[in-house]
Amino acid sequence: MKFTTKAVHVGQGADPTTGATIVPIYQTSTYTQEAIGKHKGFDYARTANPTRSALEAQLASLENGKFGRAFSSGVAATTAALTLLSSGDHVVVGDDLYGGSYRLFTKVFARYGLTFTFVDMRDLDAVRAAMRANTKLFWVETPTNPLLNLVDIAAIAALRKPGQYLAVDNTFASPYFQQPLALGADLVVHSTTKYIGGHSDAVGGVVITNDDAIHETIKFHQNSLGAVPSPNDAFLTMRGAKTLALRMERHAASAQRIAELLSDHPEVERVYYPGLASHPQHELAKRQMSGFGGMLSFVLKGDEERARAFAPRMKYFSLAESLGGVESLICHPATMTHGSIPKEEREARGVTGALLRLSVGIEDVEDLLEDLQQALEATAPAAVR
Ligand code: PLP
Repeated sequence: MKFTTKAVHVGQGADPTTGATIVPIYQTSTYTQEAIGKHKGFDYARTANPTRSALEAQLASLENGKFGRAFSSGVAATTAALTLLSSGDHVVVGDDLYGGSYRLFTKVFARYGLTFTFVDMRDLDAVRAAMRANTKLFWVETPTNPLLNLVDIAAIAALRKPGQYLAVDNTFASPYFQQPLALGADLVVHSTTKYIGGHSDAVGGVVITNDDAIHETIKFHQNSLGAVPSPNDAFLTMRGAKTLALRMERHAASAQRIAELLSDHPEVERVYYPGLASHPQHELAKRQMSGFGGMLSFVLKGDEERARAFAPRMKYFSLAESLGGVESLICHPATMTHGSIPKEEREARGVTGALLRLSVGIEDVEDLLEDLQQALEATAPAAVR
């Protein structure tokens, strides 16, 4: 089965009880047993729920993975991935990553005896230098949020020694444009809140792997920590995932047009988008991804004030956190998604107050281009004066 077929069919068979063509929302916390220990594979809904199981099968298939485990958020999926580690273990992490992952690592897991070294993962020598005898995990986010830097997944996989894991947060690219397991990753994590769900109406996460032992650990902790999605959220995510391929094609085509408009515009200082030939890692993007995604960031000419004035002027880009939905969003990473990273650290990484991030939706691209154009004009120095 090809990608789009899997999205529509894997895990989506007719309901065995009623023949319902669409997997029902099994809104139950428990299951009646015929006799003690005799049940249909479901005994308690934290442990398993048929709606969730259908979603897990569907998402695993989209990453070409054997096993998928769904969680109540992307952060919960990240937490589950870190249960592969024990106190005393060390993690090498990219230094340009989602602020909530940074907060989870430094403010939560650091208190439980894990240590983290943040490095620029574009620099393989820096990654090598960060490795220690107790390194157990490489945590890769690519493309990164919000600067759209790329990490060479296959190159990091090649650095791995026996007993070390490579986890890739594939939220930005989605499985449609990037397949980390095929590039050597041991596990893939998503915030399904974003492209996979795709409609900004459900929060969720997933961990996908081909490795039986990794899966057993994730499954054990899914039940033990208990951060599972509701049947309703599992349903919404599964419904969204059926159209992932169609949406990603549109997101990427429109993002490319917008990146080109902005990079040619005299009022724009810099554009970050892997689909631009000017992106320093454009060649890697072409090798590692089958499309460049729907996210881009840019810096306007002028100061932070201009960026702040620009965002509320947009008609179709809502000023909001999150990304990956059918509607376009604009975000000011320094105060929103990356506000939990200390200012100095954030700015050293390029996440300055003048940076704006776009999640390009599936609206007509001509409307989106016009919207950006009018906000650029309205905030141009002459207009402001
Ligand atoms: N990973 C990335 C790249 C993200 O952008 C996010 C959320 O913005 C997460 C993980 C966390 O996901 P969630 O908000 O679903 O917990």
